[in-house]
This record gives sequence, C-alpha cells and structure tokens, in this order.
Amino acid sequence: MYKPLRIGFIGAGNMAFGIAKGMLSGNVLPVNIKVSAPSSRNMKRFQEVGISVTHSNAEVVCGSDVVFVAVKPHLVRLVLSEISQYVTKKHIVVSVAAGVTLSVLEELLPENSIVIRLMPNLPCLVQEGALLFTRGANAKQEHGDVLRSLLHCCGLVEEGPEAWIDIHTGLSGSGVAFGAGRLLRDSGKHPAQLRSEVCTPGGTTIYGLHTLEQGGLRASVMSAVESATERARELG
Ligand code: NAP
Repeated sequence: MYKPLRIGFIGAGNMAFGIAKGMLSGNVLPVNIKVSAPSSRNMKRFQEVGISVTHSNAEVVCGSDVVFVAVKPHLVRLVLSEISQYVTKKHIVVSVAAGVTLSVLEELLPENSIVIRLMPNLPCLVQEGALLFTRGANAKQEHGDVLRSLLHCCGLVEEGPEAWIDIHTGLSGSGVAFGAGRLLRDSGKHPAQLRSEVCTPGGTTIYGLHTLEQGGLRASVMSAVESATERARELG
C-alpha cells in the first residue's frame, strides 16, 4: 500500500512555515509533518494547522524520510553535527540555508548521504514561491523528483547548477524584501514586518536593502509621487 512520505523540519522559523504551508496546500497532510526548534515561541502557528512539534531534532530526523534543515546559516554546522548520527542512506536531507554549500553539507553528514540544497522564498506561503534546487553527489534524479512532488504547490520549482543558487538567493530569496505584492496582500502584514521576516542580521537580504537605502530608493519613490502630484495640480 502507498505510504506517504514523512517530512521533518529542523527549525520552526519563517521559511520552514512558508514551505510547510505551501506543502499543505498540495497533497501533504499535516499528520505527516513534524517540526523541531529549541523554544516554543514559533510553534503555535504550526500546531494551529495540525503539524506536530518537538524540541528534539533527533526525533524529527528519526521520524522523517525527508528532512529540511531550516535554521539560520551560522547554525547549520552545529545542527548537522548533532543530527549526523541519526541520518541514514534512506534520508533525503534538504538544506535551505543561504550560502552553505553542498560540499560543507556533505562533509558534515555521513558518507553517501543524499543531500539537496534548496533556495526557496517566502511567497511559498501563498503558493507563489520561486524555488531552485541543486542535487548533491549522491542525490539522484529520483530524489529531485521526490522534492519536486513535495514542493510543487509552493510555487515554481526548478533544478539548476549550484552556481545559480547564490544568484537566486539575491534575486528571489532576498527579492521579497524589495517588493512582493501578492504576499503583502494575502498575508495582511505590514510591509515593514514582512521585510523584517526575510532579513537575517548580517545576511544577504539586509545587504541588498542597504544598497537600496544607499541609493535613496524610498526617498526617490516619495519624491516621485510628490512631483507627480505637484505636476497634476499645475495641470489642473
Ligand atoms: P528564523 O525565522 O529565524 O527561524 C530559525 C529557526 O531555527 C527558529 O525556529 C529557531 O528556533 C530554530 N533554531 C535555532 N537553533 C536551532 C537548533 N539548534 N535546532 C533546531 N532549530 C533551531 O529563520 P528563517 O528566516 O526561517 O531562515 C531559516 C533558513 O532559511 C536560513 O538559513 C535562511 O538562509 C533560509 N532562507 C530564508 C528565507 C526567508 O525569506 N526567510 C529565504 C530563503 C532561505 P526558535 O523558534 O526556538 O527561535
């Protein structure tokens, strides 16, 4: 009989929730998802959609076929060192951490582990994500197909070379902070809150925002509206 895949998230943050929410809009049932994080502060929203939560990363790994590593990049080494002993050849480990390469991931996991590096973005929440993944040395086409089948409701899912991942991070991962209409409308959140949810201190997005601020983007947009208004008054 068909046995549904069990999916685990290590990290209960914004990106984990975005992907989980996208999956739930497809054929993944909440009962097949488990999430772990050290504190309970982010867990309520998972529980509200029927996903079970734990403080044990080991429990998530042991109870999952596909494990998403969704902690901040600087914590990936710590987390992988902790879970490595529970990872088997049957697991597919998917890291969404910006900047953490396949070679680093593979080095921290047991030999021959199936590893995929994925760069999602927050609009997965509203099924409008842009997701790019790249397969590690032991991840076969069929493992990529499994990932695609899980993520297809999160948005557009493409596979590409690892060199594209950083570009995709700058364009689509961080790009949400620079403008994402549907997410803004559907989430009901204030733009500043949404922007803050995609910014890690010292991360890629805040660097991009710094460049926008240096270029005076907000002031330019305000001035543009002001000038156009003045001109409209002149014309009237
Ligand atoms: P976040 O909202 O800060 O969430 C991080 C989560 O990791 C929190 O739930 C935190 O636990 C948990 N955590 C911390 N230490 C842990 C540990 N030792 N074991 C298990 N969980 C632990 O971060 P995020 O924005 O979701 O980003 C997560 C990853 O996604 C990052 O690597 C980032 O590069 C990538 N990413 C994010 C975006 C985005 O738009 N946000 C886009 C593309 C990729 P607590 O709940 O207890 O604090």
